[in-house]
Amino acid sequence: MEVYDHPTFHMACQQFDLVADHLEMPESERPRLKYPKRAMIVSLPIHCEDGSTKVYSGFRVQHHLTLGPTKGGLRFHPEVTLGEVAALAMWMSWKCALTGLPYGGAKGGIACDPHRMVPSEVERLTRRYTQEMIPFIGPQVDIMAPDMGTDEQVMAWIMDSYSMHAGYSVPSIVTGKPLSLGGSLGRREATGRGVAHLAARAADTIGLDLKNATVAVQGYGNVGAVSAQTLESFGAKIIAVSDVSGGIFNAKGLDLKKLSEHVAKNRAVTGFSEAEPISNEQVLLTPCDVLVPAAMERQITEKNAAKIQCRILAEGANGPTTPEADAILSQREEIFILPDILCNAGGVVVSYFEWVQDLQSFFWSETEIMQKLYHILDEAYDRVLRNSRKQKISMRTAALCVGIQRVREAKAIRGLFP
Ligand code: NAD
Repeated sequence: MEVYDHPTFHMACQQFDLVADHLEMPESERPRLKYPKRAMIVSLPIHCEDGSTKVYSGFRVQHHLTLGPTKGGLRFHPEVTLGEVAALAMWMSWKCALTGLPYGGAKGGIACDPHRMVPSEVERLTRRYTQEMIPFIGPQVDIMAPDMGTDEQVMAWIMDSYSMHAGYSVPSIVTGKPLSLGGSLGRREATGRGVAHLAARAADTIGLDLKNATVAVQGYGNVGAVSAQTLESFGAKIIAVSDVSGGIFNAKGLDLKKLSEHVAKNRAVTGFSEAEPISNEQVLLTPCDVLVPAAMERQITEKNAAKIQCRILAEGANGPTTPEADAILSQREEIFILPDILCNAGGVVVSYFEWVQDLQSFFWSETEIMQKLYHILDEAYDRVLRNSRKQKISMRTAALCVGIQRVREAKAIRGLFP
């Protein structure tokens, strides 16, 4: 599968192989489970505001179709590649299976920098991408959602472009939409609230009091900011955060309300007057109780894993820790890891709720949604912790085992087609 050649794809395959070895899975069974079912690359020409025409590359990977439609985010980032998207699609498969959702994993992306484009260009690019993807997507085929660089507005444009093609409104084509278009209460906050909820479960497990516990967050975007705000509401003190512009630190705790105002105005955490500037790397190495990487893949590597100083590593981002770093962290029993496919699953769970509500045209209250979300996350957490202790394996291996086994069983029962 050279077409997916990328460090993040190799990382996802390495994780899969470790789990397959643990499950004593025959070699003959592995490629079918590991490699994506379908991949699309599209060329996206758009008219730019300066009168020029630019062509962007867009990708979508559907990892498996065994349990239902595929589900996964759409990322706008200059370094998006087919291989990265394939890795993210694979992780989505294990995440959906771990939480019992009737989906295979998918992911999409456009190699672009939305922060250097004007909104009308982002809109044209999004609509063009949707148009090119129409043969491959649908509410019963593949459903998109926000990821890095995309938001509710982008989802609204996708929904509108798809609906224009269908001739009627199809809200269930995307999740993470604005409420006014059939979005779900609680979706925007779901991933970050899930991260904080599971960090609280982990704190209980290791006997850590979250009141006055210290927290550092890499990536103060949707997931990072909501995780920080929710952990603050549990009594924790957020002492360091970063985004692509750099990091900030305040040992007494950052005032998140003031920080939000600063970010809304300046679109960056740097320059916040009530904190001292630090580097992005320093945020990861800040001594703290809870460290939340919520930006990109491959941030915790063999170079910095030995230097991380936290009690709980709550992986808000997908794939923030490389297998080499994992090997180092596994020797450090003082660190409790909440692996990505468990820790950030809140987003896809509420996306599933949004899809169900759209299909039924019947909407639930936020209280009902949050109760259902925490119930699913608690069950997944309990199961992973139980397996990890019983089989003496890491929380990551235990989480991946549950996800991979569920897909494996479904494939064995169905046959070769999906
Ligand atoms: P976002 O675009 O809202 O935020 C990303 C943040 O990371 C931004 O603040 C950006 O400036 C920062 N960032 C980017 N590169 C960085 C770097 N090198 N160092 C430090 N900060 C950097 O995206 P998001 O939706 O919050 O997603 C963040 C991560 O969470 C991604 O890995 C995504 O796949 C994962 N995730 C998101 C969701 C969701 O519901 N949005 C669900 C599950 C997982």
